[in-house]
Amino acid sequence: VDSVSLDVPLFRDFPTLSSGHVWLVGAGPGDVGLLTLHALSALQQADVVYYDALISEDILKITSATLIYAGKKAGESCRQDRITQDLIDAARAGHRVVRLKGGDPLVFGRGGEEMQALHAAGIPCRIIPGVTAAQGAAACSQIPLTHRDHNSAVTFLSGHQAETLYGEAWHDIGLRSPLLVLYMGLKNFDKIRLRLLDVGRCPTQPVAFISAATTPQQKTVFTTLGDSLTVWPHLSGPTIIMIGEGVVGANQG
Ligand code: SAH
Repeated sequence: VDSVSLDVPLFRDFPTLSSGHVWLVGAGPGDVGLLTLHALSALQQADVVYYDALISEDILKITSATLIYAGKKAGESCRQDRITQDLIDAARAGHRVVRLKGGDPLVFGRGGEEMQALHAAGIPCRIIPGVTAAQGAAACSQIPLTHRDHNSAVTFLSGHQAETLYGEAWHDIGLRSPLLVLYMGLKNFDKIRLRLLDVGRCPTQPVAFISAATTPQQKTVFTTLGDSLTVWPHLSGPTIIMIGEGVVGANQG
């Protein structure tokens, strides 16, 4: 991939990443093949790339820009402000800046906050969408995100602060959404699971854990809401958890 030229017809009408601009770029869930052509073009035009923890080595190899790690580190609570300020400073210094985020930049990745801060600072910015982890997980475990027999709605939720985040809405979302897709849900899963059972979700409802989706380490485990406790502690890595009647593996349905 590193020898793709932007001077071929396919790329000729693509936007130019100008000096002093920041692009928030989605890197997809891990597999290099799931980068968009716009993301590829952005990586090849950038002078500097601020990347997150979940970005794979293979994707970072595509760019010859200066790579700066901008993921969270334990114990650094104001890290987000620092990252945002670094993006602003790099743009003001005249660099062509890519902020590379896992999945889609506007899904649970604080991309929205970074975009607002860039707007407030008067820095021109563009969003390059990416394949979000839910889509990668659905594809690699062959679980449809919508299916006429099961669900015509799907809910993406964050498992962080599961107890407080949804307040009153928790009951309706938890009980009525036919397919729940949990991001960052592994740590709090037992609490979330009990909450779902508590509001009346059926214990026999299928659950899938999909870890490291679209990468060689990918792993899918099927269980039910009633007995999830026996499997979830054995999983690690970035994990999507899908809960709903339609959550059945390709060779289980
Ligand atoms: N912006 C990202 C999400 C960032 S939040 C996106 O659109 O996908 C980080 C969470 O995403 C992880 O805790 C995990 O729940 C999920 N995730 C990211 N990459 C994943 C992968 N390859 N497989 C499974 N889950 C993943």
